[in-house]
Amino acid sequence: MSFQNDLRSAIRSIPDYPKPGIIFRDITTLLGNASAFRRAVDELVQPWAGTKVDKVAGIEARGFILGGAVAHQLSIGFVPIRKKGKLPHKVVTIGYSLEYGIDQMEMHEDALAAGEKVILVDDLIATGGTATAAVRLLQQLGAEVVAACFVIDLPELGGAKKIKAMGVPVHTLITFDGH
Ligand code: AMP
Repeated sequence: MSFQNDLRSAIRSIPDYPKPGIIFRDITTLLGNASAFRRAVDELVQPWAGTKVDKVAGIEARGFILGGAVAHQLSIGFVPIRKKGKLPHKVVTIGYSLEYGIDQMEMHEDALAAGEKVILVDDLIATGGTATAAVRLLQQLGAEVVAACFVIDLPELGGAKKIKAMGVPVHTLITFDGH
């Protein structure tokens, strides 16, 4: 079995969560499976082995689990991108659209120095709204986003294409059809 099949079967799919028509791709089952978790982290890291990257940035909350492991494996620092109001020091903030209304995400303004090379990590890219905002936030601090990495891509929703159109390479491990 290819590693993609191993990873796909380690992810639990929950129909109609959090609302009708959405199939929620639940990675808690992957995280609880030692070999699948290690494989996912190894494959996320693989393109950057031997290259110079300064930091990993992870998107709250599942991006923290994967991004922390990626940073550890690359022996580099980790930067959390959090929902508004969670970080205690001075922050930079960006707004982004959700299906209903807008939300905001934040980073500490001193989390990165201008010119640092950063890899962005989250569990899944769908419409790309979340990742687009995260890339903009990193770029606002002068970081060079060398790649955006996700375990899961939902290509029909076009998010990966949007990130590539911003000039940021996208690395995903598996795809699922539909929403
Ligand atoms: P988007 O901004 O549309 O690319 O959505 C990506 C964010 O929403 C990620 O942080 C995902 O964890 C979460 N997400 C979106 N769709 C799903 C889904 N079908 N299953 C699990 N998580 C999802």
